[in-house]
Amino acid sequence: MQSFDVVIAGGGMVGLALACSLHGSGLRIAVLEHQPQQETPLTAEHSVRVSAINAASERLLQHIGVWDEITARRASPYAGMEVWDHDSFGRIAFRADDYGYAHLGHIIENPVLQQALWQRAASLSEVTMLAPAQLKSVAWGENEAFITLEDGRMLTARLVVGADGANSWLRRHADIPLTFWDYGHTALVATIRTEEPHQGVARQVFHGDGILAFLPFSDPHLCSIVWSLPPDDAARLAALDEAAFNRELAMQFDLRLGLCRVEGERHTFPLTGRYARSFAGHRLALIGDAAHTVHPLAGQGVNLGFMDAAELSAEIRRLQKQGKDFGQHLYLKRYERRRKHSAALMLAGMQGFRDLFAGQNPAKKLLRDLGLTLADSLPGVKPRLVRQAMGLNDLPDWLNPPA
Ligand SMILES: Cc1cc2nc3c(=O)[nH]c(=O)nc-3n(C[C@H](O)[C@H](O)[C@H](O)COP(=O)(O)OP(=O)(O)OC[C@H]3O[C@@H](n4cnc5c(N)ncnc54)[C@H](O)[C@@H]3O)c2cc1C
Repeated sequence: MQSFDVVIAGGGMVGLALACSLHGSGLRIAVLEHQPQQETPLTAEHSVRVSAINAASERLLQHIGVWDEITARRASPYAGMEVWDHDSFGRIAFRADDYGYAHLGHIIENPVLQQALWQRAASLSEVTMLAPAQLKSVAWGENEAFITLEDGRMLTARLVVGADGANSWLRRHADIPLTFWDYGHTALVATIRTEEPHQGVARQVFHGDGILAFLPFSDPHLCSIVWSLPPDDAARLAALDEAAFNRELAMQFDLRLGLCRVEGERHTFPLTGRYARSFAGHRLALIGDAAHTVHPLAGQGVNLGFMDAAELSAEIRRLQKQGKDFGQHLYLKRYERRRKHSAALMLAGMQGFRDLFAGQNPAKKLLRDLGLTLADSLPGVKPRLVRQAMGLNDLPDWLNPPA
């Protein structure tokens, strides 16, 4: 039987960020990950799985000592954003430097984030990495949780953290109800070479039945796309021959970056919204996709998860310092309240956007075009949007430097 203070189930980006955030707390931490991990060298070909990492997450990643490693591997800063309604006048655009910032965020391949975080967590003496390891059962004792792994190993923990992704085994095992809804969209992701340079601007166009985002890499002619569409359209586009796909993509993007050419494979992911009714229980906390999944239209899923990790680590440290038992639900309620609030705001915001931009009803189209135009021109609106895009409204206090 091995004893730990915190056992984190799930060594994805969010679980690993939590393990790294607890460095120096004096706590013994274990990370359980069911996939074997191996360091794979970066190739010239970019991964199709990327995340738009906002400035708030950058601060966390800097604080936990992985940011330099991530940028040394590969990260592409973007300094502008442009959003418009297809075939219409509604448009909004902003640049970071107009508001005193160097960039709005970075486009980073998920394997780059994952490997840098894994390497960092594995280097910490207080963190034990158990991979591959599969949960078999968890029993919630009064003072400890008792964990049995499929290979028979047994662990105890004062707190078990579910960072085991959207289909969280822990969430189900703890009988935490889940609100979920089908977005009616599948995301098609691919790497695209464009005729015109992207100039470090992340672009997104709404079409009524789809949302197409071009996320710029450091190569001025290379982007990662996330194209959210009705499932049948996504399947058709994924199967289309390359020349036809390229033509349709460039047209749907209003030829904003000229002709397009897909490089490598296209992948699809069905999109589901999820919101766990509780983010905490007796000796249990949920973080990342185990607690919530949001539509990728604003690229906020892992950013929300990173802020869960930041908030939970601060809460654990604070309670530990006060000599309190941080595994008690009573003490985890503050974490739960704060993060449920952020996730609910994000989910509602994404749903509102999704509804407003769905369909071709002329009255709705006029309303959204007027809304975009007003947001683009009214004083005071853009600075708020810029802060929102950078995640600066969702920073826990300890990552917020004094003004
Ligand atoms: C198309 C698409 C585009 C996206 N773009 C963005 C973006 O631009 N920006 C952004 O912020 N977010 C984006 N997201 C969301 C983002 O990818 C997720 O929010 C993020 O990957 C969640 O990380 P996680 O660590 O919580 O979960 P996961 O990445 O799912 O990690 C969970 C880990 O737990 C492990 N695991 C699962 N079950 C067990 C178990 N029983 N025992 C042990 N280990 C287990 C898994 O192997 C995995 O390693 C996007 C999502 C999609 C689908």
